[in-house]
Amino acid sequence: MKEVRMVADQTSVSRRETPGDPRKIRVLMYHRILREEMTPPSHRYWLLTKDFRRHLKYLTQFGYTSITFEDYWLHKHGQKPLPRKPVVITFDDGYLDTYTEAFPIVREFGMKAVVFAVADPDVRESFWDKDKPNSVVPLMTAEQLLELRNAGWEIGSHSLHHRNFSQLSPEEAWDEISRSKSILEYALHSPVRSFCYPYGSINQTVKKMVQDAGYTVAVAAWAGPPVFGKDDFLIRRIAVIKKHHFLVMQYAIKLMSIYLYSRWAWWRIRTFLYSMHIGTAHDLEIIR
Ligand SMILES: [Zn+2]
Repeated sequence: MKEVRMVADQTSVSRRETPGDPRKIRVLMYHRILREEMTPPSHRYWLLTKDFRRHLKYLTQFGYTSITFEDYWLHKHGQKPLPRKPVVITFDDGYLDTYTEAFPIVREFGMKAVVFAVADPDVRESFWDKDKPNSVVPLMTAEQLLELRNAGWEIGSHSLHHRNFSQLSPEEAWDEISRSKSILEYALHSPVRSFCYPYGSINQTVKKMVQDAGYTVAVAAWAGPPVFGKDDFLIRRIAVIKKHHFLVMQYAIKLMSIYLYSRWAWWRIRTFLYSMHIGTAHDLEIIR
């Protein structure tokens, strides 16, 4: 009986420690989570709490395990195995509803997530949403971020002031990138290793600054290679968009490799057209 139990224990350990494949990591991009629909209807990147819950239920049912970029970093350095189907759930901007709406559901499903917070403590509202009606809302406090951190979440930087890097001098961009890291590290008493480009403003100089500041990963939205691990400073994410029909089916499709490749191909075509002065840079995340 004892032997049987030992064999069973060994099997569960070896299954748990089977190294996962970083190429299988899926990175989801969320913004706001709303309890009720707004009037007029909210931005397409803002989801209802009930739909977010259905997403996490889907991930659980289909064997996904939530990880953070810190887990990926530990895996890269041989210190932690990856699960078989890893998923990184990210929230941009540090909205208060990430704490009030998303956090309880993430906890209910035994998961964890990543928040990209705007670091300057004087930025308390989402002023970048002011062009949308009734949409400027409070952001999380440092204490709330610390509570998430203590619950296993990762807090990354989304710069100091959520300014568009295409309108900043190199000195200002460096300040946004480096000082936001220090402020968050001081508030959270732990290292901050991930960065999220505000407005997706990315070029080689900005990318290099993020590396030089000591981050180990940086996320984009539409830019970047289709396979995770090819460019740690241009991580493509899957934008989760509000849907009224086929919610779970469309969510499931977005997690498939074929979807990631097709979106990447479309992005490459549009980038090429833009370089030929055809089309706009909207959603391309490129600054010159
Ligand atoms: Zn943002």
